[in-house]
Amino acid sequence: MTIQQTISQLANQCVLCGLCIPHCPTYHLFRTENESPRGRISLFKALAEEQFEASEDLWLSLDHCLTCRACEKICPSQVDYATLNNLGRALLVSQYPQHKRSLTQKMAEKLLVTQSLHPLVKISAKAAAPILSLFDTDHNHQGVKYQKPSTLGTMSHFSHEMLPNASLNPKLEEYYPASKTLSSTDSQDKQQVILFKGCSSDLFEQQTLNDAITLLNACQFNVHVPEKQQCCGAMNSRHGDIQGMNKLAQQNINQYKPLLQESEAILSITNSCSGQLKEYIKFFEQDDLENDARNFSHKATDIISFLTHAIKKSSVQFTPIGNKELQKIGVHIPCSLKNVLKDDQSLFDLLENIPNIQLIRINDQYCCGAAGSYMLQYPEIANRLIDEKIDDVIQHDYQTIVSSNIGCSLHFKDGIKRHEHQIGRKVEVIHPIHLLARQLIKAY
Ligand code: SF4
Ligand code: SF4
Repeated sequence: MTIQQTISQLANQCVLCGLCIPHCPTYHLFRTENESPRGRISLFKALAEEQFEASEDLWLSLDHCLTCRACEKICPSQVDYATLNNLGRALLVSQYPQHKRSLTQKMAEKLLVTQSLHPLVKISAKAAAPILSLFDTDHNHQGVKYQKPSTLGTMSHFSHEMLPNASLNPKLEEYYPASKTLSSTDSQDKQQVILFKGCSSDLFEQQTLNDAITLLNACQFNVHVPEKQQCCGAMNSRHGDIQGMNKLAQQNINQYKPLLQESEAILSITNSCSGQLKEYIKFFEQDDLENDARNFSHKATDIISFLTHAIKKSSVQFTPIGNKELQKIGVHIPCSLKNVLKDDQSLFDLLENIPNIQLIRINDQYCCGAAGSYMLQYPEIANRLIDEKIDDVIQHDYQTIVSSNIGCSLHFKDGIKRHEHQIGRKVEVIHPIHLLARQLIKAY
């Protein structure tokens, strides 16, 4: 079957009921059919069936999708929006080569998926931010007007404000002995898990990686951190690069294959990576790699649900957090946890291991706008979405927010920074694994 036929077939499953529309963040902002899931499905179908030619407006309507998959979760006809979107974007890229992503957009993506650009950007960020903000422009799409921050200005802000603790060029072997199994008391009897770092955990969440190892060790798991790790491929699928996505998936599957039998699970500290790894099987159905992909996906587990079960079975204990005020925690549930892994309970169950903790769910009606590199690519839309959540932060009095997705945490930190005067208090944004490790009573 050709890519066009597959798109048509997937789109035909949509009965146009519109139940997904109120759940779509871009429809919420733009209020037009083209910015809704039903509209996008019809546009992908029309493109596949050559009913019209691709244009810049079409590109924007399709590219504005945050891939939050809220539509897929609610759909009564179980339309596979994720696959349709991946294939549709690949078709769009091939049919509309005129659309070139700007250099700044490409740099923004590189900033998120590699460490190579980071030192340069970080050093110049502080000085450049005020100058770059002069490039902010008025923007109009589908009749909606707004101020568009320049991508460079946003990048500058992110790199300067959000990465103060990130190592410029972390030597991983110092942090995690390469390809070693880490445990405080190595034992043949212990079960083993594999820790998937992907492409950006080292840069943004080194502490959380260490905390994950500490907690897993405390639950009597040896942790294996493979030396060479590839990106999960989520960023490639977002940009219609199916070949690149498949290549990364293939490399990961082959690399982990010899480790799978002796490992309980492949764990990631980022929900979006977990979701992508879990779905590798979808890319290789009826392919030579099908069996290996199935085994890989079967073992791919989100660390939140894994630790929830592991702690339940262990004797690990936690100490309460400071005073009553500090015990209130704002909980952000990322779309990848809620809509892809379909688990918005485990995070609460996990954190409730901390005595006296009070968990307040942050408004998650819509995606926060982070969506991989989206927050850098379309900062005007991303900021409007996070600002709705910041309103929620303003109304509550917690001083800590937890989020289990790296991109969402960065976007929250940025939103908090922009609204610090309205919030009027210091709010830290941390990974729930870090919070848990901070409260761990070390018994060994
Ligand atoms: S809910 Fe499903 S079937 Fe209904 S319009 Fe949305 S995608 Fe189509
Ligand atoms: S994935 Fe999210 S942003 Fe994209 S169409 Fe579905 S609900 Fe809208």
